[in-house]
Amino acid sequence: MSAKRDYYEVLGVERTASPEEIKKAYRRLARQYHPDVNKSPEAEARFKEINEAYEVLSDPEKRAAYDRFGHAGVSGNGFGDFTGFGFGGLGDLFEDLFAGFGMGTSTRASRRPRRGEDLRVQVEISFEEAVFGCEKEIEIPRTETCPRCNGSGAEPGTYPTTCPQCKGTGEVRRVQQSILGSFVTVSVCPRCQGEGTIITTPCSECRGRRHVQRMRKITVTIPAGVDNGTKIRLAGEGEAGLYGGPPGNLYVVLTVRPHPVFQRQEDDIILELPLNFAQAALGDMVRIPTLEGEEDFTVPAGTQTGDIFRLKGRGVPHLRRNGRGDLVIVARVVTPTKLTARQKELLEELGKTLGKPVIPQNSKNIFERFKDAFKP
Ligand SMILES: [Zn+2]
Ligand SMILES: [Zn+2]
Repeated sequence: MSAKRDYYEVLGVERTASPEEIKKAYRRLARQYHPDVNKSPEAEARFKEINEAYEVLSDPEKRAAYDRFGHAGVSGNGFGDFTGFGFGGLGDLFEDLFAGFGMGTSTRASRRPRRGEDLRVQVEISFEEAVFGCEKEIEIPRTETCPRCNGSGAEPGTYPTTCPQCKGTGEVRRVQQSILGSFVTVSVCPRCQGEGTIITTPCSECRGRRHVQRMRKITVTIPAGVDNGTKIRLAGEGEAGLYGGPPGNLYVVLTVRPHPVFQRQEDDIILELPLNFAQAALGDMVRIPTLEGEEDFTVPAGTQTGDIFRLKGRGVPHLRRNGRGDLVIVARVVTPTKLTARQKELLEELGKTLGKPVIPQNSKNIFERFKDAFKP
């Protein structure tokens, strides 16, 4: 077997080509060299070569192996040896060859303005950034309309010329032999893909592809009050459109890192406050963390585990309306587990004066009381 050509070269795409670009190049070439269509002697060999290249470059794993090791990385996997053309994808390939057959619409399909693809990027922010909002600079790879040719694909100063194959009509008629007999098909001109013109001097920046791949820095304004999974839409910041179509959108999906002490429930912030028995019984002044920093909080005498104290408006700002949630303080009385002899003595003395609590009838348990506290 003679030395294989580079697969990217076979499909005429850059090494950085997106799956979409590879698929597009493949469909164009496969249409052009399909032996049912192209009767030239080298068509069959080209067609096999194109399919082999596509088989590898359309599969992310095989493509990665090929990128690293070349042909050696993907040989012996059973491809590269096509017998006949009954493999999958041909129906798909011909679907647009016959699409709109007789209605004259297929030839215009590829020239229609097409909206660019949407992009999606995951961004991680801190708990505080979610609460108060922030600006984040992100960097994304995307296709943009080529600035040199303005998306025409032609080198500035040159102009596309009338396609010699279809004489500018964008369609070709051919007699097709099939099991149903012969009939005339009108299909997209394979030379110009229905545009009616061809680029004789491709733009030196995009090589006639109309698009360029760019790393783009974008500043995203994240509003106060966002939460895990909040999606921010940046209109028009996705992939470039084609034939004058608008660009797609960029969606920024947020992941919020957990906070070491606060928990968030909707727009309320929950803080568990441990108290020793003396603090709970006698009341105390304690320091608590809040979203705005540490401050004093007065624990009332007689506080029970599960008691809730709401600091109104000290939670997370509501995302789409005014106001904020609350800071919800949940008291928890901590029972000591390691006692000194002196502490034991004091507690025993105290215990004698307290008497035994009576088991209440039909009392709501702590869990239910806790749940009630969160009902709006
Ligand atoms: Zn260009
Ligand atoms: Zn043409």
